[in-house]
Amino acid sequence: MDNDNHYDTGLSDLGVTWEHIHELAKIQSTIANSNQTFDRLNFFERKANNLEKQLSDLYYHNWIIPRFHVQGLNGHICKFCNKFSFRPVMDLGYDLTMQYKHNCYEQLGAFTVPIPQEVKDIDGWAARILFDQMSYYESIGNRLALDDLTKVFNAYREYEYRDLILGIPDRHPMITLDKNVMVDLIDTAIKSPGKLILMQDSQILDLLTKTKSTYGILEVPQQDDFKYYYMKIVR
Ligand SMILES: [Zn+2]
Repeated sequence: MDNDNHYDTGLSDLGVTWEHIHELAKIQSTIANSNQTFDRLNFFERKANNLEKQLSDLYYHNWIIPRFHVQGLNGHICKFCNKFSFRPVMDLGYDLTMQYKHNCYEQLGAFTVPIPQEVKDIDGWAARILFDQMSYYESIGNRLALDDLTKVFNAYREYEYRDLILGIPDRHPMITLDKNVMVDLIDTAIKSPGKLILMQDSQILDLLTKTKSTYGILEVPQQDDFKYYYMKIVR
């Protein structure tokens, strides 16, 4: 070539100059930039699709629950993974209990709280968590309803698989009370069948400490027998 700044690329024969190449490079960089923009748009589109799917999953699995449909809260303390889990329950006695649903490795369908090491009274601590949640749900309040189920349980007395037949503990949590526990409250409730018994906060906490649930079957020791009640904390 006759110019010191140029060497023969063979391009001149094609009528292509460095200016052309420079222009081309500029165009390419513009395209690259807009590709980046497209990449970003794609990224956001994918993200939006993902979120949309997550949201429909939430609806599908009933994770978004109208709080006024929740009838009870049911909790379970797991000694293996050292966690307290609880779930809102819509149909008492039909929905599965937390004990049944709990899986140490997969915390799906429940609120799960690791038990802090410094907590000594784990039952009381778990009761407090449930208690704090209760006010959020319209149907759960500060009154106790008890229904006598002793006849039903007596009818199944001879069955070895009584609990299995009655859905305990998969659908109904059953709580055996120690002797002389919450006697006043239970007595009052028993003596006024069909009536709702107003409870103080301390009584609710006491009850939850035993049950870890706002509903369930209470097995109440008598002289040398048991009585059975379906209990429900309602508004
Ligand atoms: Zn566990």
